[in-house]
Amino acid sequence: MSVLINGSSGPQFSVSRGIRQEDPMAPFLFLIVAEGLMGLVKSAINKELFIGFKVGLFTLKSFYSQQIGLGSVDDGALLKKCWLTCAPSKVCCFIWKLFRGRVATKEALAERNVCLGQHNLNCVFCLSHCEFLDHLFFTCNFAMDVWKHFYDWLLMPMRLSVNSADSLHYHDLHYIEVNCRDPWRMLWFSVIWSIWLMRNEAIFEGKRPNIRMIMELIKLRS
Ligand SMILES: [Zn+2]
Repeated sequence: MSVLINGSSGPQFSVSRGIRQEDPMAPFLFLIVAEGLMGLVKSAINKELFIGFKVGLFTLKSFYSQQIGLGSVDDGALLKKCWLTCAPSKVCCFIWKLFRGRVATKEALAERNVCLGQHNLNCVFCLSHCEFLDHLFFTCNFAMDVWKHFYDWLLMPMRLSVNSADSLHYHDLHYIEVNCRDPWRMLWFSVIWSIWLMRNEAIFEGKRPNIRMIMELIKLRS
C-alpha cells in the first residue's frame, strides 16, 4: 500500500493487524497516530515538501464563476444564455450540458467505456450515422427536418447549423424586441429538449420518431 503525495505515490508500506474495531483503545490509538501524523505534515510543509491548497468558501456562485472561467470569453457569454427564468431548471441544465459538450450521447458513453455494442452507436433517427452531439441535434436528416418545420412555423428562413452555438446565434438574430429575448430563446430550447425526449422515447420505449408529433410538442412546450 502507498499514499498519494502531491499527485504521486509515496513509498510502499505493508498493512498489518492492529487492535479490533470498537476496542475502547481505538480512539486513543487514533489520537496518538493523528498527533504524530500532524507533526510530520507540519515538518513536511516547513521543508516545502507539501504544497498548500486553499479551499476557501465553496458556494454555488463560486463554482459557476469557476466553470465560466474554464472556457474562452465566447464560451462564458454562451453559457450565460442557458439560464432563462421562463424555462424549467432541468431544461436549462440540459442546455448547459449541450454547450459544454457533456450530453450523454452514444458516442460520449462509448468514450467513457460504457459498452453499447458496435451497431448500437447508430443514431436512432437516421440509423446510419454514429450518434454524436452535433449530429443528433443539427446535422441528422431528422433534426434538420425538425428545424425546417420549426422555422416554417415561425415564418423564418431555415439556415443549416452545425453546432449549438451557431444555431442559437442564428436564432437570436431574429428576436423582435429586447424584452422578448428570453421567451424567444425559449422556443429554441424547446426544440432541443423535444429532440432529446423523442430520442429517449425511441431508444427506451421503441417509439417511432415522428415529425408531426414533435412539432406539436415543441409548440406545447414553447
Ligand atoms: Zn441521425
